[in-house]
Amino acid sequence: MPLLQIDDTRARPRRASVACRVGGVPVGGAHPVVVQSMTNTDTADPAATAEQVALLAAAGSELVRITVNTRESAAAVPEIRQRLEDRGCRVPLVGDFHYNGHLLLTEYPACAAALDKYRINPGNVGAGRQHDDNFRRMIEVAVAHAKPVRIGVNWGSLDRALLTQLMDENARRPQPLQDREVVLEAMRESALRSAELAEACGQPHDRIILSAKVSDVRDLVQVYRALAAACDYPLHLGLTEAGLGAKGIVATTAALSVLLFDGIGDTIRTSLTPMPGGDRAEEVRICQQVLQSLGLRHFTPQVTSCPGCGRTTSTFFQELASQVTAHLQLRMSEWRTRYPGVEELKVAVMGCVVNGPGESKHADIGISLPGSGEDPRAPVYVDGKLTVTLKGDTIAQEFAALLDDYVDRRYGTPAR
Ligand code: SF4
Repeated sequence: MPLLQIDDTRARPRRASVACRVGGVPVGGAHPVVVQSMTNTDTADPAATAEQVALLAAAGSELVRITVNTRESAAAVPEIRQRLEDRGCRVPLVGDFHYNGHLLLTEYPACAAALDKYRINPGNVGAGRQHDDNFRRMIEVAVAHAKPVRIGVNWGSLDRALLTQLMDENARRPQPLQDREVVLEAMRESALRSAELAEACGQPHDRIILSAKVSDVRDLVQVYRALAAACDYPLHLGLTEAGLGAKGIVATTAALSVLLFDGIGDTIRTSLTPMPGGDRAEEVRICQQVLQSLGLRHFTPQVTSCPGCGRTTSTFFQELASQVTAHLQLRMSEWRTRYPGVEELKVAVMGCVVNGPGESKHADIGISLPGSGEDPRAPVYVDGKLTVTLKGDTIAQEFAALLDDYVDRRYGTPAR
């Protein structure tokens, strides 16, 4: 019988885009997809904002955006940058401008100089002739300071004049498109026409990043596929207003995964609504997990664990999976610099003999716990081979020690 042909399920190669440097971080070209995030502090409060930027950077955010919406916030930006420098945090800062960016960027040159990129929403720069004049003033500041810009279209603030024009044109078509299609077309056109205007104002081609965010997964995929086909600018991906909790995480993951798998996207953000008092850095970890799950980047060792079932009537298996995950997270702050490559480590913690040994053999190091009615023994597999069987009350501690030993042997620098 002929062998079944299995499709190659690796993500497709990234689409060709020009590389754009944001501070010290390259975005686009052949560079890895960049994780970014945004603060929700009042930018006019430099201490609180610098604190949150540092927290996001420590979680792995490679670019951090801050809103710059008032004179007070523009005035605070240099101090935020200085506070970050003082604590050794060099993460690039992106200024988010709406309505008055042309005023703030020209009135506060120290703010313009301290930022590493300006996000400009072409739907929020004024109407009529003012639109082009205000947009041009912002681009002139970017050119003068040699800063990149992100032209960030959002369907919640789409350029009304452009949308009206395209709606009118659509109405004259023999077979008009649905309104939704015209909105997506207007988003693509708004991004592309703004980029053209920016270049006409002197902004270099390789200092422009585009985005076109909507809150519906299928619309997002459609608009980004259209943008990717029409230009070679780096693209920033994100499902806007993703929502709370599981809904926001799942919708974001679904949207980003389809596009990233197709090679579309050079930088990503998760726009979750945080729970009251929640951890802002969660949006960073979700982006990292999306990239790691697709095999595009590696940030932290992955623990494979089964859901458990009627064969795992005690909670020991769940406790061990969570202890191992916590152990890895704790160790990673030291391991990241001491053991290059350790972020690719695969660990398995399995509930019983049914899939436990098999899954553990596929991991670098795995443990198969005894299910209900099995002998109270937990075989440990290292590089696919059974190496030791643990039992008794110290299984968790002994497995953690085996993990540490494995990491040191595999990723440590051999003694000379
Ligand atoms: S490995 Fe065992 S305990 Fe885990 S889900 Fe499968 S059958 Fe259930």
